[in-house]
Amino acid sequence: MSVWQKEIGFALLLFLVALISGSLTGHILLFMFLLTLGLWIRQLLQISRFERWISMGGRGEYPRVSGIWEDIYHHVYRIKKNERKRKKKLGKMVDQFRKSTEALPDAAVVLGPSDEIEWTNKAARDVLGLHQSDKGQRIPNLIRFPEFIRYLKSGNYHEAVILPAPVDHRITLAVRVVKYGAGLRLLLAQDVTQLKKMERMRKDFVANVSHELRTPLTVLKGYLETMRDMDDGNSPLLTHSVLQMQGQTERMQHLVDDLLLLTRLETQQKKVQCVDIPALLQQICKESDALETAAGRIELLLETDTRITGEEQELRSAFTNLLGNALKYSPDDSKVTIRWRRSESAVILDVEDQGEGIVAAEIPRITERFYRVEVKRSKKVSGTGLGLAIVKHVLMRHDAKLNIVSEPGRGSCFSCCFPVTRACR
Ligand code: ADP
Repeated sequence: MSVWQKEIGFALLLFLVALISGSLTGHILLFMFLLTLGLWIRQLLQISRFERWISMGGRGEYPRVSGIWEDIYHHVYRIKKNERKRKKKLGKMVDQFRKSTEALPDAAVVLGPSDEIEWTNKAARDVLGLHQSDKGQRIPNLIRFPEFIRYLKSGNYHEAVILPAPVDHRITLAVRVVKYGAGLRLLLAQDVTQLKKMERMRKDFVANVSHELRTPLTVLKGYLETMRDMDDGNSPLLTHSVLQMQGQTERMQHLVDDLLLLTRLETQQKKVQCVDIPALLQQICKESDALETAAGRIELLLETDTRITGEEQELRSAFTNLLGNALKYSPDDSKVTIRWRRSESAVILDVEDQGEGIVAAEIPRITERFYRVEVKRSKKVSGTGLGLAIVKHVLMRHDAKLNIVSEPGRGSCFSCCFPVTRACR
């Protein structure tokens, strides 16, 4: 028999007793009233006991009761017990998470919607100089580097910002912000001192080697020039060797020049001015047109006279490289089109050829340093593999992007897309 059946059976029994007693004494209504009053007072007492137990947190053993109330106590007791277990488990997990984030070698700071500090780990306190008591303070008031404040305000957290550590300026930090939850952000700072040092060493090494190679190369070139002048043509081997040596020194000269240019792009501040791109393109096309393999092949379409803010020499190098490639990697009688145009959001230079094209899998790699696509060609095409790396660097320094669309056997289109905010006329 279920609890409810027992409870109803008991109530019916009482009702029957009251009915019989009432009919025997002739006071049915009085007995009924007394029965109802008794049942009501009993329930009230049970509710009051239950309220007292639950208001004390429902902890420990519940009072000894019977019937339906025993079931109610039992269910509530079980729910409370499960809740306590879950809380304990959750607490343990939070504790473990805190301990692991505390032990992280990278600094981590949880920021609220108004840049206020909500939580920091040990590394954040060590390397960013934050204290436990800084909780609730706005982080821009504590880390006052302008580039950091700009980065935080920008809301664009795709890349990290490089800063010296506030506690020790010899430490270099890469700081980045990750958004999560509702308005919360996690600030992560990683010590990149060694990495930056190695990068600087690599740049210095390349710059020094390239610079040092220039003098011996000039001497070699001079002697080779003299040997060629002195060559009376009696020894075909000598003539061939001198020509080969001249070709190779020429190639080395290009390599050294490109490496030095890349180093300059990586290290030097640029001198910004409003560059007359249409005039620059006309000049580049005229110079290239003078070359034997390019004569009459270049078509220049100036659809806009927009000028852009930038560094003229750098832009000249990038555009010359793109035009040089278009001429190099297409047949000697094919057209190369250069178009300067403006759209709603960008000012674009397209360099389009009808040449050999590039297979899709190679496109992401061709802007890497020294990367050259190995293709069987009817003519030998010389190059350093540095041209597109230079183009990429120059465009990066001008907030521009390089888009490459190519179809093997049909041709390629290299587009430099400058943001319209760069337009200065
Ligand atoms: P380089 O031309 O000195 O080899 P680049 O960095 O300028 O070096 O180009 C890298 C590679 O990309 C080239 O070796 C070539 O295979 C490919 N490439 C560049 N431009 C074009 C083009 N217009 N058409 C086809 N392939 C190209």
